[in-house]
Amino acid sequence: MAEEKKLSKEAALFEAAGCLKCHQAPCQENCPAGIDIPGFIFKIKTGDIKGAKRVLYDKNIFSATCAAVCPVEELCQENCNKNQVSRSVFIGQLQGYAVEEGGDIDYPEEELTDDPRKIAVIGAGPAGMSGAYRLARAGHRVDLFEAGDRPGGTPYWGIPEWRLSREILEKETKEIEKHLNSVNFNTRIGVDIQVEELLKDYDALLVCCGLGDGASLRIKGAELEGTVDAVKFLKAHNTGENGVPSPEGKVVLIIGGGNTAMDAALAAKEAGAERSIVVYRRSWEEMPAWKAEIRKAIDSGVEFMLQTAPVEIVGRDKVEAMKMVPTRLVREKEGRRPRPVPLEGSEFVFPAGLIITALGQMENPLVEKLQDQEQVFFAGDAAGGDATVVQAVAGGKEAAEKIMVFFREQKERGV
Ligand SMILES: Cc1cc2nc3c(=O)[nH]c(=O)nc-3n(C[C@H](O)[C@H](O)[C@H](O)COP(=O)(O)OP(=O)(O)OC[C@H]3O[C@@H](n4cnc5c(N)ncnc54)[C@H](O)[C@@H]3O)c2cc1C
Ligand code: SF4
Repeated sequence: MAEEKKLSKEAALFEAAGCLKCHQAPCQENCPAGIDIPGFIFKIKTGDIKGAKRVLYDKNIFSATCAAVCPVEELCQENCNKNQVSRSVFIGQLQGYAVEEGGDIDYPEEELTDDPRKIAVIGAGPAGMSGAYRLARAGHRVDLFEAGDRPGGTPYWGIPEWRLSREILEKETKEIEKHLNSVNFNTRIGVDIQVEELLKDYDALLVCCGLGDGASLRIKGAELEGTVDAVKFLKAHNTGENGVPSPEGKVVLIIGGGNTAMDAALAAKEAGAERSIVVYRRSWEEMPAWKAEIRKAIDSGVEFMLQTAPVEIVGRDKVEAMKMVPTRLVREKEGRRPRPVPLEGSEFVFPAGLIITALGQMENPLVEKLQDQEQVFFAGDAAGGDATVVQAVAGGKEAAEKIMVFFREQKERGV
């Protein structure tokens, strides 16, 4: 996707010229970060590319990352008024052009607070980093704690390189790190430092720990060697870690219909799978993956078995096949997704060498531990966000604002 987004100068000017600069722009209303979309496009139109970049970074400190990974077809572009007459303005591609061609920009100085209170931020993903940055820029002392050995969170290990270059992500995280009091990698809160300690040492906690492990498949044979969770599989694939079975030369079945399933199917193909087949129990219409992701998977040769549900994983010591059953869809209530009902008696066995389960991630256990504490704030996926990078960035910033309001109210109450 990233490579498709590059525009030449002429193409960018042409595209920008098509923007109607709408009043109360609906594209902007559907941007979680609230970027002044007509404003930045207008600057491109007038040749002020640096100015356009500044407009973007003013609202979103991960503008380059978001230019690469934002599901624009589901957000800003979906709402563009020009859809009513032809097609939307390619907002995502214009954003990519501005961040690449805008050169270095300076960030406006902020009025610094003299409030000495300290904040601990847990998780160096987009939510944690954006919240930490907002607080630090306002003059607060911010310490960031991250379980992994680097910043970036899920975009670092989960999003494939062809969609997001690690160089772009690193450039943005480095800029943020410069402003923080301390950045502590390899520090898992709840293990290396207990939550009670943080609650005692800090005036507020911003919890941006993302989601937990992948949900497991509860069918016979699920524990057999050759079955792996998509989150673990992608992490190993994208970071070069060992420890998960290789898809090379195998028929790989990916169970699930979300974005993670599409990414895992593409990664399996990239790693040399003989066939990479997504098994989903509903139809195209209900598939939760973004359209662009489904298109990319189809274009890359990923196959699909729709209205098919897993019944049992078959094998002696390791995976040899999967028993599956076709489903029919029964709509029980208008507006609700139809329920897949197995067509009993039509089970079949399909040979496979690797099964990847992409059934969604569970809640991070830290969230439950820190519930209902006055000085604890949540953002990003940990707060049940929309599971996009831009939503996490916006959520981190909003939570930072709430912490500052909380401090002001405490001050007024003389706490
Ligand atoms: C495979 C995959 C592909 C995706 N592709 C896209 C995409 O193309 N576009 C898009 O917009 N979104 C995508 N998403 C969703 C997006 O990555 C997330 O919504 C976003 O990263 C959430 O940000 P976050 O900061 O809340 O959490 P994360 O990015 O998950 O960051 C959480 C951080 O907290 C750390 N942490 C966890 N527990 C602890 C602890 N106890 N102590 C200290 N640190 C801890 C983790 O190590 C991690 O670094 C994808 C997600 C996945 C899984
Ligand atoms: S809705 Fe479309 S045409 Fe209107 S301001 Fe936004 S991008 Fe431009």
